[in-house]
Amino acid sequence: EVKSGGRGAYRLFDQAMRERQAMRRLIERDMHLAMEDGQFVMHYQPQIDLASGKLIGVEALVRWRHPERGFISPVEFISVAEESGLIGPLGEWILTRSCLDAAQWGGIKVSVNISPVQFREPAFAAKISRILSETELFPWLLDLEVTEGVLISDTEKVLDIVLLLKKLGIGLSLDDFGTGFSSLRYLQKFPFDKLKIDRSFVRDINSDVKDAAIIRAAISMGRTMGLRINAEGVETEDQMDQLSAMGCDEVQGFFYSRPVPAEDIPALIDTDFPISNADRKRPKLVH
Ligand code: C2E
Ligand code: MG
Ligand code: MG
Ligand code: MG
Repeated sequence: EVKSGGRGAYRLFDQAMRERQAMRRLIERDMHLAMEDGQFVMHYQPQIDLASGKLIGVEALVRWRHPERGFISPVEFISVAEESGLIGPLGEWILTRSCLDAAQWGGIKVSVNISPVQFREPAFAAKISRILSETELFPWLLDLEVTEGVLISDTEKVLDIVLLLKKLGIGLSLDDFGTGFSSLRYLQKFPFDKLKIDRSFVRDINSDVKDAAIIRAAISMGRTMGLRINAEGVETEDQMDQLSAMGCDEVQGFFYSRPVPAEDIPALIDTDFPISNADRKRPKLVH
């Protein structure tokens, strides 16, 4: 038993690989139909301003309701879409749907995740410009969220695209901050407006001094660079309190709301969300 462990483990690995590949083929096959059949829907997660307790924006998150398999996570199908080229049409649908919905809300920003493959499409900036005019959304109401994966190769070419996008007047956020390899270089080089601290740091912020130290440092650095700071994955009041005390600008997470359908957003616009005692002076950086 122990001696054959190597082979056995390999066989298991091999089988897992084959199952995974079969799953990916199924996803790929079904995605074509899903687009036409309207199986993709956008949900929107509220982003709450910690100074005012108001909804200031939403993150657009795609969902796939498969008729037989039920809900399939974007973590599963976005990578398949990237590999199969379907991210082109899917990404365009996501952007158009998100901009159309945001145009209805009048003043609430929408933040759309952009995959590295999408970003490198020829004339990506021109596509964004076209979608904005077709959907009649003000450019300052659109943010694009990218991870380091977007920036890591062809850096100069990507910077050109970013500068074109910035000229249109849209916002740029660095997503999942702290989970990559060299965020600091990219922060220095790219004109980001917002830094989104990954939820893996937020989870234990109240108990793990290292996580708390990383967040405190990220907030301090980001603010010095003139960035807005968002913390993701806030699930408890204690996490929110701690982030507020550290000077974080905005948060999103299950504590406030899960991602919800577009029609639920208007009711949240006038809501006063709970924040830390509002009259506490939050630290201001002096340059
Ligand atoms: P992300 O951009 O970092 O999105 C945040 C993820 O955290 C979302 O998962 C959201 O539902 C989840 N989340 C929000 N608040 C909490 C919380 O309090 N606790 C926990 N445990 N989770 C929370 P989701 O929707 O499954 O998306 C996962 C990832 O898939 C996203 O990570 C993003 O990278 C990708 N993705 C989602 N929608 C799109 C899209 O429209 N386009 C592209 N290119 N990628 C997308
Ligand atoms: Mg995101
Ligand atoms: Mg994120
Ligand atoms: Mg993520």
